[in-house]
Amino acid sequence: MHDRRREIEARLTRALDERLRPAIHTTVAPLTVEVWHVPPAGDGHVGEPVPFEVARDAAYERCAVGEPWGPAWGTSWFRLTGHLPTEVDAAEAVVDLGFTGAQPGFQAEGMVYRADGSIVKGLNPRNDWVPVSTSSAAATGAHQVEWYVEAAANPTVLTGFRPTVLGDRLTTSADPLYALARADLCHRETEVAELVADLEVLDGLGRSLPDDQRSREILYVVEAALDALDLGDVVGSAGRARELLAGVLRAPAGSGGHVVSAVGHAHIDSAWLWPVRETVRKVARTVANVVQLMDTDDSLVYAMSSAQQWAWLQAAYPELFARVKEHVEQGRFVPTGGMWVESDTNLVGGEAMARQFVLGKRWFAEHLGVEPREVWLPDSFGYTAALPQIVTLAGMRWFLTQKISWNTTNPFPHHTFWWEGIDGTRVFTHFPPVDTYNAELTGDELAHSAANFRDKGAATHALAPFGYGDGGGGPTREMLGRARRTADLEGSPRVRVETPEAFFVAAEEEYADRAPVWAGELYLEIHRGTYTSQAAMKDGNRRCEHLLREAELWSTTAAVRGLLEYPYDALRSAWETVLLHQFHDILPGSSIAWVHREARATYARVMGDLEAIIEPALDALAGDGAGDGTDLVAFNAAPMARLGVPGLGAAAPADDRLVSSARPTEDGGATLESDVFRVRLDGTGVIRSILDLRHDREVLPPGGAANLLELHPDHPNRWDAWDLDAHYRHQVVPLTDVDDLRVDGDAVVVKRSFGASTVEQRIALHVGRIEIDTEVDWHESEKVLKLRVDCDVHADEARYETQFGHVVRPTHVNTSWDAARFEVCAHRWALVSEAGYGVALANRTTYGHDVTRHPRAGGGTYSRIRASLLRAPRFPDPDTDQGRHAFRHAIVPGARVSDAARAGYGLNLPLRRRPGRAVEPLVRVEGGPAYVEAVKLAEDGSGDVVVRLYEPLGARTRVRVTPSFETTSTEVVDLLERRLEVDDRDGAELSLRPFQIVTLRFRR
Ligand SMILES: [Zn+2]
Repeated sequence: MHDRRREIEARLTRALDERLRPAIHTTVAPLTVEVWHVPPAGDGHVGEPVPFEVARDAAYERCAVGEPWGPAWGTSWFRLTGHLPTEVDAAEAVVDLGFTGAQPGFQAEGMVYRADGSIVKGLNPRNDWVPVSTSSAAATGAHQVEWYVEAAANPTVLTGFRPTVLGDRLTTSADPLYALARADLCHRETEVAELVADLEVLDGLGRSLPDDQRSREILYVVEAALDALDLGDVVGSAGRARELLAGVLRAPAGSGGHVVSAVGHAHIDSAWLWPVRETVRKVARTVANVVQLMDTDDSLVYAMSSAQQWAWLQAAYPELFARVKEHVEQGRFVPTGGMWVESDTNLVGGEAMARQFVLGKRWFAEHLGVEPREVWLPDSFGYTAALPQIVTLAGMRWFLTQKISWNTTNPFPHHTFWWEGIDGTRVFTHFPPVDTYNAELTGDELAHSAANFRDKGAATHALAPFGYGDGGGGPTREMLGRARRTADLEGSPRVRVETPEAFFVAAEEEYADRAPVWAGELYLEIHRGTYTSQAAMKDGNRRCEHLLREAELWSTTAAVRGLLEYPYDALRSAWETVLLHQFHDILPGSSIAWVHREARATYARVMGDLEAIIEPALDALAGDGAGDGTDLVAFNAAPMARLGVPGLGAAAPADDRLVSSARPTEDGGATLESDVFRVRLDGTGVIRSILDLRHDREVLPPGGAANLLELHPDHPNRWDAWDLDAHYRHQVVPLTDVDDLRVDGDAVVVKRSFGASTVEQRIALHVGRIEIDTEVDWHESEKVLKLRVDCDVHADEARYETQFGHVVRPTHVNTSWDAARFEVCAHRWALVSEAGYGVALANRTTYGHDVTRHPRAGGGTYSRIRASLLRAPRFPDPDTDQGRHAFRHAIVPGARVSDAARAGYGLNLPLRRRPGRAVEPLVRVEGGPAYVEAVKLAEDGSGDVVVRLYEPLGARTRVRVTPSFETTSTEVVDLLERRLEVDDRDGAELSLRPFQIVTLRFRR
């Protein structure tokens, strides 16, 4: 039977490929083709996109099928004209731009315009047809077509994941990549197309079933249909073959069994193997296809995430946006996700994580009048344990991803479950068991969804996003044809095309009371290099997040004091840019050189814009410096007045630098000394001892080192910029060769060179911490650079700052889950502690960390904290991270969580000084601790003051927040600044549970 089955399947495959699919379109007449290649302007070999009006009026030349076009990133416009005799019904054109067999979405694409500039649809590798409207043909007796195709030569080679210069228009070559392959007016043979769909569905179903009655029945009927077909006259015999298949396609699935909620979708990365500008066009082409398909097939439901992509569409393609809006009103074109972009969630700071939802949901509400309730993050590289609370406070009910199916070590045990965050908030979560966000609804995929579903038996509902992503054109009529046939088909999961919300409502109703609970982060066991790759993204993001904090705080203070207007538009624009760059291939550093080159310039511009908001606000607050000229105001936006750091708007001119001295030693090393620490460096410039005089305790273990730079080879097995594989640790070179070691004032400076690179470290003592500035001129390739600090602390677990709190991870590798977390993300600090004593490493720009435990001379174990400074992957950007970088870290001996946090805020928020009068803080926070994360004016422009704070220790606390301005009332609100039902206040006092986030709105 096996041989028989294989023979029939092989016969079907060949018939489909060579006879049936090609017979769907019968050529009626060739189109006349002319072309205009957008010429280069200035730098690079190719021109940038131009508006339709410019292209329409350009000088076109005749072009034959077969003619090459398109150097990488170039745009060519094809003018297609033709004449269709009136007797042709179901008329379509087929335009093949020279599509390759590579994945759709990662190669040539086109957009078809009418002569009046209106959009017809997109052109994609598996969606290469254009409808011909024949409504006017009857009157004229013939139909004239004239189209303009904007063709984009996006390079295929990037999906080879090997180093290439094609990732930037400035370095690419002028060689054409594509050749126009077909441009014909055709008749669409509907019966052949339906036969192809019948056979594809039955073939897929038959292959997915065991060798049972149903699969044999399907096999024999398929063979009979093939026997009935005349391959020399497919059009003439298709109907006969379909009649034979009708019976098996009518057999119903019956009740029970797996139900697939198929959601039309296209995962379009906001930048990745193409620049941001190309994403705008990718979105438009896919949306054009979706709108065209919705107009002609009322079964399609399509979900589109990312307010940013909607905003691009609205700005650049208003006519298309208007058509989309009509379908939104009918509930078929569904905004989903509620975020500004599908951001990374490991690296994004607390307030920015909140703003992804605030700005995203506000956009959907303002422009479309809808509020998405499901978080849609299919592809981001792991999910922070802070998310359940953040998304719930943003008014979201459900969470979706499928990325965790990429884990290389531990298969995740559930597909539908309650996900519990650091504060205990739970969100109903689903991972589509189809294991892709680009499904085609094939029999294979549907069977995989059913078989793979880990909650089967107890639950029956699963979601499957279908459609070609990344510019592949989205869902197709072929996919809808498969969905129709599998809606109720014996042996197949039942497919319903519906909204994500419809899925979640059904899944929750069925399973909410029994679904398992997963507590803590959804760590992705791959892509660990993204905490470090493209260091300038990490630096730019961190600086902008903190400048935004300062800009909002000081602008709010100045506005409430009546000194300045609040810069709503400038702040919103800066936020939008920063949020866009948190997209899951930009901030993680996994895009082509072009994207990161532009992002570096953008970050620099935004930093300048924010300084231009902060400085005038501080000048206004400090006044004219009147008086005797000696008063000094210090501004620091750190939220911990109680802890000795200048607080919110407080005037506390004390520097947190203290009196210390540095002097050389006889062995060529140096010592640093203050009232609190005595630090000794040996002749190699490595710290060998830190004496904590307050605790009379040596911080380093015997033989230990701090500030030690370690270099590893870094050759991941798969994806260069994404992955740091465990084997990188098998080889290590400590950087101990010294070019120069000297005392400079109260600091010690060490210079080294290694490979083609140089590094200078500057070590100085501050109140409560030892600061290490590391400047690297980095010219390595495929290496990772780590900063190591050994601590004489015996710790089973380490704490790492995350959004609005911290996560605890083991330092041991007892289980495969622990072992897989060999590189993890921390925000501004990581901390190891034993009873009564801890050591933290705080940072100003880095995220990647590893904490390990080691046998200690004399017994016990010690802990080693390492921060990842730099990598040098060669794909997608062959020159990743080449050049100068500056890092700042602080070792905090004797640290508790509050000390680690204080150092983290201190390194990231500069102290700003100017002469003037003392400024009263806008709000005073007493009790706690509770840290203030944002002070701003309300998004709605009412002038109300919004203060967001959280409990940072994982403790229960009471806190009093007192405004220093007139208020009419105070409300506890959600992230969108809407009044919350639950209000835990006792008068002016707030009770906070561990890691709780509270947003207060002071009405004025
Ligand atoms: Zn993606």
